[in-house]
Amino acid sequence: GDLARQRSALEGTVVVYEEALGDEAEHSHRLREALAGAIAAGEFRLHWQPQVDAESHKLVGAEALLRWRCAALGREVSPAELFPAAADVGLLGEIDLWVLEEALATKRRWSGRDDAPAVIAINISASSLREQGFADLVTEALRHHGLKPEELEIEIPEDVPARDLDALAQTLETLSTQGVRLSLDDFGGGASSMAHLVQLPVDRVKLDRSIVRGLPNGARESAILRAVAAVAGSLEIELLGEGVENEAQTVALRGQGCTTMQGFLYGRPMPADELVPPLTNH
Ligand code: C2E
Ligand code: MG
Ligand code: MG
Ligand code: MG
Repeated sequence: GDLARQRSALEGTVVVYEEALGDEAEHSHRLREALAGAIAAGEFRLHWQPQVDAESHKLVGAEALLRWRCAALGREVSPAELFPAAADVGLLGEIDLWVLEEALATKRRWSGRDDAPAVIAINISASSLREQGFADLVTEALRHHGLKPEELEIEIPEDVPARDLDALAQTLETLSTQGVRLSLDDFGGGASSMAHLVQLPVDRVKLDRSIVRGLPNGARESAILRAVAAVAGSLEIELLGEGVENEAQTVALRGQGCTTMQGFLYGRPMPADELVPPLTNH
């Protein structure tokens, strides 16, 4: 009868749902397992996205972005997928150290090249920045590679909980005093707040892509840009526009004193040898 048909339809739905869940759990298990061996297997690499001067469009910096070609899964795994998994299995610290080392080694390879970015930016997770001893580690790595602190910028994630700001501030004060540059990533995008600007010794604010996307016509985005620009201006903090995809966005950002641009309009993340082609002997 009707009831039996309904029940069997419902059971079918439940079975499909359970299978989907099972697949997802299985997949996330395989992902975590693969992640644990990814560094040793040499599956990570960095891509570099240009940061350009807002007026001259000259290359002034580059942001290192992690890329993972996972052999076990047979595909690229995006940062959006890999970082939450890495956090779950406690691998963020190891990944951050790999990124630091690889980025500095690349910067050292570029030394003496005037077509290379003067400053490189790396993303470091809040958990590493909270660690006592992280500042010393960075100092030691810079020395090992013969680089000046001013050649490195550390991007602070926007999702730092307010209760962690004190612990972070210590590490960051040490780094800042030594000359390492600090930027606040994805500002205005989500969890970021003015408290970060009050407590952390930030040299630069990176205005989130979600704000830039609405420029120049979005009334709310334009209001946020003006407000952030006013605060940055009075604190003498530089402003960088993230995710810039068209000229109209550049004009709006520049109009508010934004000095640096980053986005697909100026260049996608690319391998190091594409950003700075190796010199040939002939
Ligand atoms: P993020 O640090 O804000 O990096 C910018 C992201 O926006 C990158 O995505 C970049 O490819 C993308 N993007 C840049 N310009 C444009 C544009 O014009 N349009 C659009 N649609 N997208 C643009 P990606 O590489 O997928 O990285 C996503 C996030 O993953 C990063 O956001 C960062 O939070 C995290 N991440 C990436 N690499 C690392 C890393 O080495 N360490 C850590 N801790 N986090 C990383
Ligand atoms: Mg970033
Ligand atoms: Mg960002
Ligand atoms: Mg982001």
